This record gives sequence, structure tokens and C-alpha cells, in this order.
Amino acid sequence: MANPSLPPFRNEPFTDFSTAENKRAMHLALDRARAELGQTYDLIIGGSDLQTSDTLKSVNPANPSEVIGIHYAATAKEANAAVEAAQLAFAAWRKTSVADRVALLIRAADLIRQRHFDFCAWLVLEVGKNYAEADADVGECIDFLEFYAREALRLDAATTPIQYPGEKNLLRYVPLGVGAVIPPWNFPLAIMAGMTTASIVCGNTVVLKPSPDAPTIAAKFLSVMEEAGVPDGVINLVQGGPEVGRTIVEHPQVRFIAFTGSKKVGLEIHERAAKTQPGQHFLKRTILELGGKDTIIVDADADLDAAVDGVTASAFGFNGQKCSACSRAIVAEPIYDTFLDRLKERVEALTHGTPADNFQTGPVINEVAKKRVLDYIAIGKTEGRLITGGIAVDTPGNGFNVAPTVFADVAPTARIAQEEIFGPVLAIIKSNNFDEALAMANNTEYGLTGAIYTSSREKLDRAEAEFHVGNLYFNRKCTGAMVGAHPFGGFNMSGTDSKAGGPDYLTLFTQAKSIAEKRS
Ligand code: NAD
Repeated sequence: MANPSLPPFRNEPFTDFSTAENKRAMHLALDRARAELGQTYDLIIGGSDLQTSDTLKSVNPANPSEVIGIHYAATAKEANAAVEAAQLAFAAWRKTSVADRVALLIRAADLIRQRHFDFCAWLVLEVGKNYAEADADVGECIDFLEFYAREALRLDAATTPIQYPGEKNLLRYVPLGVGAVIPPWNFPLAIMAGMTTASIVCGNTVVLKPSPDAPTIAAKFLSVMEEAGVPDGVINLVQGGPEVGRTIVEHPQVRFIAFTGSKKVGLEIHERAAKTQPGQHFLKRTILELGGKDTIIVDADADLDAAVDGVTASAFGFNGQKCSACSRAIVAEPIYDTFLDRLKERVEALTHGTPADNFQTGPVINEVAKKRVLDYIAIGKTEGRLITGGIAVDTPGNGFNVAPTVFADVAPTARIAQEEIFGPVLAIIKSNNFDEALAMANNTEYGLTGAIYTSSREKLDRAEAEFHVGNLYFNRKCTGAMVGAHPFGGFNMSGTDSKAGGPDYLTLFTQAKSIAEKRS
């Protein structure tokens, strides 16, 4: 039995890449990763490595001819075998002490911390993050492991609010069973590892199906978990696309689905999971974190420098490919023109190029994403006034690069003001008063993040009550949620508001058993 006492949680510090030492460490890590490019990775089912007759390959979005990893692709046969292996492992894992499960997460966090730069390098190469974005993803992954470890201990010590006279009352949070973990590609380490380790620290076993755009990072994480001592079958890795996802979601032994991704796929999973399969003995639980159409309100009394910086960082950090990205700025009429001038200057100063060379902006994830973004830019040209960008950018590696793009004078009901683009496209909407700004901020089907820049306490108070989003920020950017400080999850079509990194998250991966013993 491991010692369950842990020092208080603290967020992993960010790496300062302006120092020569850290830059060098990153370059060396990129060299190490490059030396491993194009390797073939097995599926992992019940602790055994498995090959199939088909493969999928991930490529560098900044240089699509560079193959990052080749992965054996699962079919329904392997997906079903993975669920069965997870079911088998559940019998022992559910009985493993919480202290031992917690110790596993802490060991894994230590290993990832030791390989921080290496994980950053894989994120740079497989999904096109620059150094700071990669660093934040790795830091958030470590934070999730450390945070959920402590949360598991807290949950294990839960008691009923009342001890009924004449009884001893207990409340035990017991695991659910086998979970399907289906992450997106855009935080391929943090979100993938967060949903996986939240599941297992509660005593569940999982079938993990990563995004086909980021399979190598998941394989690297699995090898860390194996090194940390995860028992066979507790995490099973199957690689593949929608068909494999559908198979595990529908499997009668899959008790819950932890999914983060698009609204479209999330709704399909919600529906599929609701249909009882022959032999199924429970209602499936879905934990669904979906897309966003996130707004920053800039009021006339705002600190303009801070607002311009915050909107730029929120809209174009990782090229707008965050569910929390600002894709609409609602700007008060008295400062509208000045704000636009300043924003244009600021956005045009962003450097653009290859993530490995640490440019501020770079490629979108793949050809399909590039086409989608360019299609929305074409729509934007009919719906607003192009301020900057609006074109694909040629780069030496033929990356999927699109210039950071801003449209002004966009109607709040326009398609580019309503639909998730998931790329570097920002719509600016003019507001005539604060009531109108709030109403426009709330007029999408989503409700994930939002921010407001104002020096008025009264307006902040109104936003607190009326701006209907899961994660609201005052006088700061709407991206960059920190584990523990900003529990993360959205309202409305942005998902089930599961609040990853928050105090209620682990309860979603458990069921509470109330036990009453009569005292004589
Ligand atoms: P996606 O929905 O296309 O894919 C997500 C995962 O689902 C992938 O692993 C994919 O292979 C799998 N999948 C696809 N079709 C499936 C099906 N029919 N059944 C089961 N699984 C299926 O999303 P993406 O492009 O990987 O990620 C981007 C999306 O994720 C954006 O909409 C973004 O807003 C959202 N996102 C949300 C959050 C959040 O916390 N709310 C965080 C990150 C990303």
C-alpha cells in the first residue's frame, strides 16, 4: 500500500523559452523525436502488443510529407477485444486500493515531468503547436494527474452529511466499470490523459481511442503508463476513426463514455449511448465536452491595450484551434474604429511559420481543416469587411497554413458569428450599448467560454449574472484554463458541463453507494 499523503497541489510552472538553456533543451528534444519519426506502433489490448492488417499514419501539419508515426488500425474485432480485456481487468482493478491507484498517477506525472521537453517536441511535430502551446499542454497533463490523484483521496474520505442517530452511515464512491475514452486531437496529451486517468484513478478500466490526427502522442503516454506500472488491461489502446469509436460506444459492456470533441460527434455519441443494446444491464453515462463559439465583449471603458492583447491571444493562440478560442469580439461603438486599427496592427505583427522554429502562428491540423477554414473565409467575405488575412500561406514544407484573419462589421446572426470554425478566423461585431452586447454574446447555441474587458464593477457584476457560459473571464483572455483554478466545461451545446479539473469531476466517473449499519 502506497503512502496516500501528498503535498498540496500546485500548477506546473510554465517554461521560459526565451532562455538559451530552455531553447537548447527544446532543440535537442526535437532532434530526439525526429530520430524516431515514422516508427510503427502496436495496439495494446490486455497488456499485449497487437498488429493488424491495416495501418493509419499521422503526419506533420507543417510538412505533410513527414510521417510522425504509423499505427496499426483497429477494426471492430480489436475494439470488441479491447472492451473484453478492460472488463476482465476491472475485476481486480476495482479492488485495488485508492492509495495504489493514486501512486500510479503520481509516478506517471513524475515520468512525464522528466520528459517534459520530449513530450513538447512530439506535440510540435504531430499537431503543430509552438513551444509555449506545447508546454501548456504538457503542463496541463501533469496537472490533471496530480489533481485527480488528490481528488481521488478526497473522494475516498467522503462521509454522509448527517450521521443518523442509532446508525453508522457511510458513503462510498465506487467505480462504474469499463469506460470508452475518446479525445480530440487539439489537446492530444492533456485532454486524452485527463479523461483516461480520471477514469482509472476511480477504479474503472478503459478503452482509449485517440484521434487519428494525434495517435503517436497517445502511444507515448501509454508507454509512460506501462513504465509507471499500470496493470494489463486497465488501459487498452485502439487506434482508428469513427467506426472504431462507434463500436466501443455501442458495446453492451461499456458503462460510460468520456468524450471531448465536436458537437456533431458528441450528439451522435449521446444518441447512440442512449440506445440499450441486447445484454446491457445499465444506463450508459456520457460525459461530453463539445465545441464553442466564444465571445469577448470589449466595453468602451476597457483598458484597450489589454483588450487588444487578450483578443489576439484568444483568437490566434494555436491558430484558433481551441474550443475556448475567441471567434467573436463584440466591441462598443465609441471605441470600435480605434480597436480595429490597433487589432489589425497587433495581428499583422504575429509571426507565422513552422512550429518547430517556434513561430507564433502556424498550420491548421490537416487538409480538411484548411479547406473548412478557407470556405468560412469565403463566406466571411460576403458577411463582413476583411481587415487582415483571408488567404492560405505558402510555407517551405507545404504546411496547412492559413493567415490569421479578421472580419469587421459582422452581423451577430451571420454564419461566421454563429458556427464553430475552429481555425484562425475572428469576427468583430459592433455593439451600441451594454445590454445589446450581452444579448449578442448569449445568442449562439454554445456556451463554453467568454470574457469581458471593462473597468466597471457594475458591468462585471451583470456579466457574472447574465453572460451564460461555463467559463467566464474578467479583463483577461478567454483561453488558458488552469487545472484546479478554472474547472472547465460548457453550457448548452458546448456539452454536459463536466468541469474537468474541478472538484466535481471525479464523481462523474463513480457511483455513490450509501451504507447504513444499525448500532445496537
Ligand atoms: P471530432 O469530434 O471530430 O473527434 C473527436 C474524437 O471523436 C476523435 O477521436 C474521433 O476519431 C472520434 N470520433 C469521430 N467520429 C466518431 C463517432 N461517430 N463515434 C465515436 N467517435 C468518433 O473533434 P476533433 O476535430 O478531434 O476536435 C475538435 C473539436 O473538439 C472542436 O469542436 C472543439 O471545440 C472540441 N473540443 C472541445 C473541448 C472542450 O473541453 N469542450 C476541448 C477540446 C476540443
